[in-house]
Amino acid sequence: MTHSSASRQPVALGLVGLGTIARNQHLPSLAAVPAFRLAAIASRNATLDTLPGYPDIDALLAAEPEVTAVSLCTPPQGRFEQAASAIGAGRHVMLEKPPGASVSEVEALAAMARAKGVTLFATWHSRAAAAVEEARRLLANRKISRVEITWKEDVRHWHPGQDWIWQPGGLGVFDPGINALSVVTRILPSALHPVSAVLDVPENRQAPIAARLSMVTADGAPVEAEFDWRQTGPQTWDIRVESDGPEILLRMGGAELHVAGEKIIAAADEEYRRLYARFAELIATGASEVDLSPLQLVADAFLLAERRTVAPFHDPALPG
Ligand code: NAP
Repeated sequence: MTHSSASRQPVALGLVGLGTIARNQHLPSLAAVPAFRLAAIASRNATLDTLPGYPDIDALLAAEPEVTAVSLCTPPQGRFEQAASAIGAGRHVMLEKPPGASVSEVEALAAMARAKGVTLFATWHSRAAAAVEEARRLLANRKISRVEITWKEDVRHWHPGQDWIWQPGGLGVFDPGINALSVVTRILPSALHPVSAVLDVPENRQAPIAARLSMVTADGAPVEAEFDWRQTGPQTWDIRVESDGPEILLRMGGAELHVAGEKIIAAADEEYRRLYARFAELIATGASEVDLSPLQLVADAFLLAERRTVAPFHDPALPG
């Protein structure tokens, strides 16, 4: 199924999962991108006054034949079944990051989408941050000597009451950390792979609250990452790249670019508008975009990691 851009008819879209990211980013971005018309919602608990609402994606797909695309804003665990239903029903699918709870389940979805002739778009919102493409351009012909990722934020501020992030498949601190990995895999001129990892797992949880990940580029340059969810006060989302050229520093998750100490880009957040514009383009051209390299790095970190048990993490809204 393709959508002709010449027709100028917006694509009717169903939004699945009405949690933090759906409300903060997807709803306002959809309102600003004319290529889509938000037509229906699937949510177990929430509704929007102005739109038809269904308890789950299967009910939405059955009742709304005009909805030709869906955007999944649910947690990664369970998203495979939702995406498989939508692809099976011939709808185009956009996946929040991380695209699934495992690498192989998303490969399976990509194969299903190919067989069905629909678009699958595994989004990485941080790659759509304002300074990422310029950093990639500046590094394209450079010899990389060292990369440092510092991703430190306060889980109590950003993820209050979210139980799924602490469950198997929820990634723990890699839920934000995978954003950094999505950026480095985009801006570095060669592939990278992990060589060692340490995961700090609270004694009452299944997923890490902090992690150190040592990787190397294909040329052997070290890429050191430090992820920590216990950061109070100023929050840090930095990637520093040393090479045979000027130092590149991406800050604020890719919204700011500093070159040799001078700030050259600082832009407003339009990540999700860019993602929806890209989804429209992919639908119009009958293409898919599924790069699993950030998820593969996280999976490899879990394979390689030394695990340390650390102090319990308590949130009054969570069991345990
Ligand atoms: P959230 O606030 O917990 O919302 C997830 C929504 O998914 C829930 O409100 C729920 O909506 C639905 N859902 C369906 N099955 C669920 C289940 N078994 N457990 C919990 N919720 C379930 O999560 P979120 O922060 O929006 O994150 C969703 C996805 O977006 C994740 O993959 C996350 O990595 C990504 N993301 C989040 C942020 C952020 O800052 N929060 C930023 C970028 C990307 P209903 O009750 O309506 O069914």
